[in-house]
Amino acid sequence: MTLAPTHGRLSVLCLGAHPDDIEIGCGGTLLGLRRTPDVTVTGLVLTGEGERKQEAESALPRFFPRATVEVLGLPDGRLPGHWDAVKSALESFATRVDPTLVLAPRVDDAHQDHRLLGRLVSTVWRDVLTLHYEIPKWDGDLRTPNHYVHVSGENARLKVELLHKSFPSQVDRDWWDDELFLGLMRVRGVESRSSYAEGFSAHKVVLGLDGRRSA
Ligand SMILES: [Zn+2]
Repeated sequence: MTLAPTHGRLSVLCLGAHPDDIEIGCGGTLLGLRRTPDVTVTGLVLTGEGERKQEAESALPRFFPRATVEVLGLPDGRLPGHWDAVKSALESFATRVDPTLVLAPRVDDAHQDHRLLGRLVSTVWRDVLTLHYEIPKWDGDLRTPNHYVHVSGENARLKVELLHKSFPSQVDRDWWDDELFLGLMRVRGVESRSSYAEGFSAHKVVLGLDGRRSA
């Protein structure tokens, strides 16, 4: 059974610790929403200065054309030492953005910046469906997701193309290549009976099974 929002607006808030987190973690999902009516996408990236900041500002609108994104200049790799600043930034953002879906890093991500952001989401947006995206990395922290969003072959390839185009400062990294991005989406596709997919974990999901409308 596929569960999908029945109607009404979908306000998606994408949270990233670093420029490229959002696009790697849920770029295919955002591409799939481009032609869906009543969808808004807002991004908040906690770190990023200079070229990295510019990359983050231009990347998200490539994946979802009407997206807006704000990039803060908090210290990369040091977010746990700036817990108050991160919490305040999220709380300030929450007064301006009223999401129906939050996409954020996993609460058990091996990178300390991702992990902190993932864990703080539920302390700020307490009653909003939150899906935690995954980011492949050297640390080897991937787990089996418990939620999936299918990604078409066209959008999977477009995601990879846009990642290369949007983050030129990262393309020389030894792990940054088509095979990693496509391969992970292909594995998640196999797990959810699709060509490609993105995997998410959710701590709590409330199902409105009595909310079905008759045909
Ligand atoms: Zn990151």
